[in-house]
Amino acid sequence: MAPYNSKGGSIMEEKAYILKGFQELSSVQQKMLMQARMAMQKARNFVLQRYKVGATALLEGGEMRSAFNNERRVVQGMRCAEDNLLGDLDDEGLGDQLVAIAIVSQSENLEDTEPIPPCGTCRTIIQEYAERSGRYGDLEILYVNANFEEEGVRVSTIGKLYPEPFSPHQK
Ligand SMILES: [Zn+2]
Repeated sequence: MAPYNSKGGSIMEEKAYILKGFQELSSVQQKMLMQARMAMQKARNFVLQRYKVGATALLEGGEMRSAFNNERRVVQGMRCAEDNLLGDLDDEGLGDQLVAIAIVSQSENLEDTEPIPPCGTCRTIIQEYAERSGRYGDLEILYVNANFEEEGVRVSTIGKLYPEPFSPHQK
């Protein structure tokens, strides 16, 4: 058996998410998505990458917070919605209360309906907050295109999206 297959292999055969219809979601999940989409619509991001992202955090006690991404003319100045959102939670002293996160994105090409999961850096950041809230890999992540009522919603966890997290403090 060859140690490296030229294509395929088993590692990614299992999907990292479950596809659900919007109506199948709980009212809290639906509200998170609506709020994330409202935040996304505030983004003014048609400079470089040309897509808008909104993210909503569900906190212990049921409160929600939202943020959107920022594109800049220089790549180093860009900030993901998730990064903005979680930084804002720390500003409010809520950084250890993250229960779930919803991410809604929209490409400049409105016919592109593929949901965009969090980037590698944000997966690491989300994992950090999942550890702080004691949820670890079970922290729920919803990620969808902006027309989620028609397209359905990808429901996952940080553990499925990021099964072996980076941590310099691992034993
Ligand atoms: Zn990111």
